[in-house]
Amino acid sequence: MTNLNMPEMLKTQLTDFFYELHRTPELSNQEFHTTQKIKDVLTQYDIRILDLPIKTGLVAEIGHGEPTIVLRSDIDALPITEQADVAYVSEHQGVMHACGHDFHATAVLGTAILLKQQESTLQGKVRILFQAAEEVGTGAAELVQAGVLEQAQAVFGIHNDPTLEVGVVGCKAGALTAGVDRFAIHIQAKGTHAARPQDGNDPLLILANIINIFQTIVSRRLSSDENAVLSITQVHSGSTWNIIPDTAFLEGTVRSFDAETRQRIEQQIRQILEGLATTFNAKIDLDWQPGPPSVMNDEKWAQFALDTAQKSGFEPRVVKASPIGEDFSYYQEQVNGAFMMIGSGGPFPLHHPKFKVDERILIPTSLYLATLVQDALIEIQDS
Ligand SMILES: [Zn+2]
Ligand SMILES: [Zn+2]
Repeated sequence: MTNLNMPEMLKTQLTDFFYELHRTPELSNQEFHTTQKIKDVLTQYDIRILDLPIKTGLVAEIGHGEPTIVLRSDIDALPITEQADVAYVSEHQGVMHACGHDFHATAVLGTAILLKQQESTLQGKVRILFQAAEEVGTGAAELVQAGVLEQAQAVFGIHNDPTLEVGVVGCKAGALTAGVDRFAIHIQAKGTHAARPQDGNDPLLILANIINIFQTIVSRRLSSDENAVLSITQVHSGSTWNIIPDTAFLEGTVRSFDAETRQRIEQQIRQILEGLATTFNAKIDLDWQPGPPSVMNDEKWAQFALDTAQKSGFEPRVVKASPIGEDFSYYQEQVNGAFMMIGSGGPFPLHHPKFKVDERILIPTSLYLATLVQDALIEIQDS
């Protein structure tokens, strides 16, 4: 049990730090300055930083002995030109913190400072991750590879959620985000004069069939209690009005919430494409790019996160799974834990050029996470 509060000076420092990160966003795997800025603050508070073979991002550690808990934030931004109505608008042309990772990093930095101040009473060790490259889905796997989960007994992480009001912490047991797959399809057929289709093999007709039949996967091939989304998001073919082209291309994504459904959809996509290739006597190549699986919250830790939210002055809410992707799931493949959604007030969605985080949630989130990991250490020791 803890009774945390935060000195006004630290509140100001964190708020300024949040503005600073927001003004100077960096794309995935290029977060060099962001990493340095976080390192500077950690060093100022005498927090030890692990020596890891990573280019960007960093990992700090507070406390000693066992158990070990991992708390993760992410730090990268997006290739979006900011249009948000904030005084601390991005100064980097075409780059924006449109997913709120500046908030995640700052809130968790605040937690690190609070925990450092309580280090002598900490019942174990907290490893704090400032993870690079979340938006491209590779940062978590890289940190797992670097060994950041060694000896860890629980892992926690946050994302802001503009669909939830300020003051709400959302969580649920089981799948919280979607497994994300990306597919690209190249059709090789045979072009000809538009007036003589019998001399060629029309790739546009094949493309149209793919779009139609793919839409039967979710609507006709999954059961009513299964959940998935399939979207085709770009198609390209042709050059003018009187030529049937040789090739066509389409690309899209599948979002699903359990491993079995995910695998079945992939199989069906492959089967449909093989069938169409035979039917139309064309070459159809599938480039299947699996992304992170679903964030899968442990039942006990999800409840613990909600209970602690209430204790910390938030309104806990059991939320529905969201079809976004999140590479936090790679940590949970190894270690049980929970991922929480922090209400950030909207009205604009994540990845929108006008997206902004309501800054009132910054300090309460730092305090909440500090309480959460302190109590979780005690919980692990007691159980
Ligand atoms: Zn994002
Ligand atoms: Zn994000």
